[in-house]
Amino acid sequence: MLTLRWGSATDVGRVRNLNEDSVLAVPGLFVVADGMGGHAAGEVASRLAVEEFARLAERTPVRAEDLTETVRLANEHILSAGAERDDQLGMGTTLTGVGVVGAERGEQLAVFNVGDSRVYRLAGGRLEQLTVDHSAVQELVDAGRLSAQAARSHPRRNVVTRSLGSDPGPAPDLWLVDPAAGDRYLVCSDGLTGELEDPAIAELLATNPDPQAAADQLVVRALAAGGNDNVTVVVLDVLEVVAAEESLRQTATMPVPDGATAVLPSGELSLPPTQPLAT
Ligand code: MG
Repeated sequence: MLTLRWGSATDVGRVRNLNEDSVLAVPGLFVVADGMGGHAAGEVASRLAVEEFARLAERTPVRAEDLTETVRLANEHILSAGAERDDQLGMGTTLTGVGVVGAERGEQLAVFNVGDSRVYRLAGGRLEQLTVDHSAVQELVDAGRLSAQAARSHPRRNVVTRSLGSDPGPAPDLWLVDPAAGDRYLVCSDGLTGELEDPAIAELLATNPDPQAAADQLVVRALAAGGNDNVTVVVLDVLEVVAAEESLRQTATMPVPDGATAVLPSGELSLPPTQPLAT
C-alpha cells in the first residue's frame, strides 16, 4: 500500500500572454507538459498529451509499458491534430512525470521523460535531478563542451532534441524507483528551473511541508525571479509505504482516498532503487 499526497500549481508568468503548459495530478499519475508552437498550438499539444494520460489514469493497475504506449498515442494525436489545421502544424510538447506502476509484484514509481521538463527527488534533505534533459545544451554538457552553469544562459538553452509531435515518435526515458516514506518528488516545466537554481528549489521544498504550499511557493518565487516563461509544478509526497503482508492485515482499516491522497494496493518491492529501462 502506497500513500501519496500532492499539490500542483501553474502560472502564465510575467512575460507570455498564454499558458502553454498543461498539468495532470490525479491518483497514481502526475504529469507536466510544456507546449511549443505558434499561436495557441503549443497549448493544444500539451493539453492533448495530458488528456491521453488522464485516460490512462482511469485504468488500474498501470504498467511501465502503458506509460510508453501512452506517449506513443499522445504523439499520434498531436501529429494528426497538427495535420488537420494549418495553425497547428508542427506543434509539439515536452512531457515528464511520475506514475505508480506494477501493483502485482509491488508498487513502484515510474519516472518518465521526453524533452526538458524535469523530475527531481528530495530525499534525506538532498535534491537530485532524476530526468536528463533532451536538449541541445545538455548534449554539449554531456560532451564536456559546456558547464552546467553556462548552459543556463546559453542562447540555445530552449532547443529540445526530443519532443512529442515528431515523426518518428520520441522514445521516452523511463526509470523505476522504489518509493520510500518521506521522499518528495517535484515535476516541473523549465519555467521553474530557468528562474530558480537547484539550491533555491531544494530550500523551498524543504521548508514547506505541505505539498500544495510548496507548489504555490515555487511558482511565486519563479515569478519573482522574472517569470519569463510559463511555470508549472507538481509536488508529490510519499507518506507511507506498507509491505504486502502487512498491507493484507491492514485491509480492514484501509483509509478512504480524499481529494489529495491516494491509497493504492501494494506488494513487496523487488527491484533496485533506480533502474533505467530505456534511454
Ligand atoms: Mg517552458
